[in-house]
Amino acid sequence: MRKTAIIIGSGISGLTAAIVLARHGCQTTVLEQSPSPGGLLTRFQQQGHYFSSGVHCVGSLGPGQALRQYLEYLGVWPKIRAVPMDPAGYCEFCFPDFTFAMPAHHERFRESLLEHFPAQRPAIDQYFADMATTTARFPLYKLSADPYLSRENAALSLAAYLGRLTGCEPLRRILAAPNLLYGIPADECPLFVHFLVTDSVLQSSWRIDESETSLVAAFLAALHEAGGVCRCSCQVVGLECQANQVTGVRLADGEIITADVVVFTGHPKLLPALCPPGTLRPGYRQRIMEAEETLGIFGIALAWQTQNFPLARQDVVLYAGASTDAVYRQKVVYSNQRLEVVYCSGTPEGSGGSYSAVALSGCACEEFAPWWNSRSGDRPADYYRLKEDLAEKLFTAVCGRWPEAGSEARIVDVFTPLTFRDYTGSPTGSALGLKKSLKSLLETRLSTRTRIGNLFLAGQSVIAPGLLGSLISGIAASEAVLGTGELTTEIVKERA
Ligand SMILES: Cc1cc2nc3c(=O)[nH]c(=O)nc-3n(C[C@H](O)[C@H](O)[C@H](O)COP(=O)(O)OP(=O)(O)OC[C@H]3O[C@@H](n4cnc5c(N)ncnc54)[C@H](O)[C@@H]3O)c2cc1C
Repeated sequence: MRKTAIIIGSGISGLTAAIVLARHGCQTTVLEQSPSPGGLLTRFQQQGHYFSSGVHCVGSLGPGQALRQYLEYLGVWPKIRAVPMDPAGYCEFCFPDFTFAMPAHHERFRESLLEHFPAQRPAIDQYFADMATTTARFPLYKLSADPYLSRENAALSLAAYLGRLTGCEPLRRILAAPNLLYGIPADECPLFVHFLVTDSVLQSSWRIDESETSLVAAFLAALHEAGGVCRCSCQVVGLECQANQVTGVRLADGEIITADVVVFTGHPKLLPALCPPGTLRPGYRQRIMEAEETLGIFGIALAWQTQNFPLARQDVVLYAGASTDAVYRQKVVYSNQRLEVVYCSGTPEGSGGSYSAVALSGCACEEFAPWWNSRSGDRPADYYRLKEDLAEKLFTAVCGRWPEAGSEARIVDVFTPLTFRDYTGSPTGSALGLKKSLKSLLETRLSTRTRIGNLFLAGQSVIAPGLLGSLISGIAASEAVLGTGELTTEIVKERA
């Protein structure tokens, strides 16, 4: 008899686990609560323009690099079109006192740092050596080697590391700047998280051109080829368990679907409510429910008519001050504070000079607590006023950098952490799931296995946020389901 597997959630982690399990003979069904599949992979349309929800800059898609190998293995790679970002500067960090374009290449980044800070050669060389040794210790990232994480790296924050590395403040600022990609301030960020994410975009940085095939369509096609199915508008409201083994799931409309294996990929704080009383340890439940969240994101979607679109091959981060961490403290609700950081990103190509872009900033999700009881399309008037205010601040920042945007670009959508909450089910709308900060590494450490037999976890909170971290969590969960311990070998062999 074929094993039946249910995957809760159709984001990149869920679709990855579903493809792997279907390819290994499981009868696999993905259940997605939203009317359309994809979670944060989804693109949305406004006034004829497409925008990505959670895919702007994607690392390590070059030949032999980690994400590319996984997408090849999953059968997704041949179906998508990846466009390299500007290798001379995939991201420009604009501080009030200087601007630095970060090359998408280790050696070019190193050379560029040496050019700017020639006296800092020993610190710069040490940084790259430490990044190489740290990332080499993660087998699912390097697709090789044994897992090993030195105690020192596990216990060191990025800020403490940079403080020891160099007294040169502008250099420390540049090295810390990618922290926006994983949403943890430098003094709370475990060094290995920083190195893994930074290494991935330094290997190579890409946009996904979804004008012909969307990422979600490519994943779904690969799932169908493997024999799996995805059902939308199917919210799982409970797990069916017997003798502490999961036996199936219950949907919001009362339907019960039996399964030998269930993989949950939603936000971990949604899990306790799904589990029958007594099945999770009280300590585990409390640890998850009290874990800190990453930032919430708010932003504007822009339709931009121009012949000189600045964001097709480069992201731009606009800082109001000298701190790369001020965004983690900024207040945006009923506040006259400036926006500390605005992250701008665009689509790779436009037809007839028509482009789309987003400008994003962050805040604590709790700032939006006054509207947590409201739903999309039916919120109090003061929420809409706040959205207008935030949209204006973001647009002003964009026009400060590109004055021509004032006449060429128009806002076609505004979104807040509440938008992400309603769309992905993340309880407070946090963008990148649980915050894997240094002080809460233990609290946020989640295994792909749970105490409930045949219930497994994947998703951006399990290993690391981002497309690669989330995909790897789907691979790790599948590995745990299959119990062979040979999935990585299989992926590496397929590459050979
Ligand atoms: C604004 C933004 C920009 C980003 N930009 C980038 C980027 O440029 N590069 C990058 O690498 N990463 C980026 N990320 C991060 C990346 O998008 C995420 O880390 C990743 O997509 C998360 O995938 P996931 O599968 O864990 O979660 P999700 O995509 O959130 O999928 C989880 C799914 O589970 C469903 N679900 C939850 N509970 C239930 C239930 N009870 N029943 C049924 N379905 C359920 C949800 O509806 C959702 O569809 C960005 C994120 C955000 C928010």
